[in-house]
Amino acid sequence: MRAVVFKATRQVTVEDVPDAGVERDDDVVVRVTSSALCGTDLHMYDGRTGAAPGMVLGHEGLGIVEFSGPAVHRVKRGDRVVLPAHIFCGVCFNCARGDSAACLRVHPGHVGGAYAMPGMGPFRGSQAELVRVPFADANCVVLPGVRGDEHEDDFVLIADAWVTGWHATELAGVRAADTVAVFGAGAVGLLAAYSALLRGASEVYSVDLIDERLDKAAELGFVPVDVRQGDPVEQIRELRRARTGARLPGEEEMGGVMAGIDAVGFQARDQRHPDREDPRQVINDLARLVNPTGRLGIAGVFTTTDAAPAPEGGYADGSLQVPWAALFNKGVTVGFGRTHDRRYTTHLRDLIISGRARPSQIVTHHESLENAPSIYDRFDRRVDGIVKAVFRH
Ligand SMILES: [Zn+2]
Ligand SMILES: [Zn+2]
Repeated sequence: MRAVVFKATRQVTVEDVPDAGVERDDDVVVRVTSSALCGTDLHMYDGRTGAAPGMVLGHEGLGIVEFSGPAVHRVKRGDRVVLPAHIFCGVCFNCARGDSAACLRVHPGHVGGAYAMPGMGPFRGSQAELVRVPFADANCVVLPGVRGDEHEDDFVLIADAWVTGWHATELAGVRAADTVAVFGAGAVGLLAAYSALLRGASEVYSVDLIDERLDKAAELGFVPVDVRQGDPVEQIRELRRARTGARLPGEEEMGGVMAGIDAVGFQARDQRHPDREDPRQVINDLARLVNPTGRLGIAGVFTTTDAAPAPEGGYADGSLQVPWAALFNKGVTVGFGRTHDRRYTTHLRDLIISGRARPSQIVTHHESLENAPSIYDRFDRRVDGIVKAVFRH
């Protein structure tokens, strides 16, 4: 089968690799119809995660079941399925409670597993013609419709980008009438902001430093905040002052936001020197911006080991200096971590089917799999206006 293969830092190829096959009785093999390129793929591409050469990339796949093991009961050959990025068994202590990203069986000796991520198990990725799906009854979300229909892009975003964005709003406890700020207007940040609006937020600010992403944020109904124009915390406070003023006694103390989301992670840019990374920047901004009694959701990736930490503010072992006391004194609730796909995938599917949500509005590029080296390069260099690219197989 053809597959996108990691070769070395900033080098991927499309080449022939052994076909994916059924290895256990409860596996299926899916013929991929669409897969998406994710910012997380760039962590491997940029040599930050220590990915081994030869890894088949991709963790956002949609396709048709081609082979089914004898112990698979719920999905069958011919079913259209989306494959959540975080693989889980469905029945262990954590899965039984809905904490599927912390599955205890999928990668023995570790907590959680995923396709095509170093440290997350031996699972090959879905930027390939075929992909093996372990614990298939748990990890295939069966969908209506046919290959290439109007929901092809909507459904592929359930694999990771939208569930991660939705999970971020869960972590930040976003509820009706909340004011929300989302740092990062990549696919996950835009879909976190989109989820906040679906949940009834009154104002959603979308913070970034790339024109096309800020344009997309405005197009989707969020207030774009351009970091290049100055401190985003002061910009949002000023916008809120201009919009609402203070109406209740003491309300001027609540001039930030009730919910803040980090959709950037460890590769955050230094606000004053955007050519440099500073993994503390977004956390520090959110701690300043969040209102007393507010909530933060940290959905951007933080690795436990950074193979190429930035010279300043880098953190090779994942330790980070954060304003703990400010968060304590404000009484802020902070939520972290990978999305528990199982809790959300069917609900998000139904929002799409009912016509209430069209997450595919963030997709800007369609490419053939053979074009992967070019689109990885352009996405990595933040050129060509790529917000979200989907491979059509
Ligand atoms: Zn992803
Ligand atoms: Zn499990």
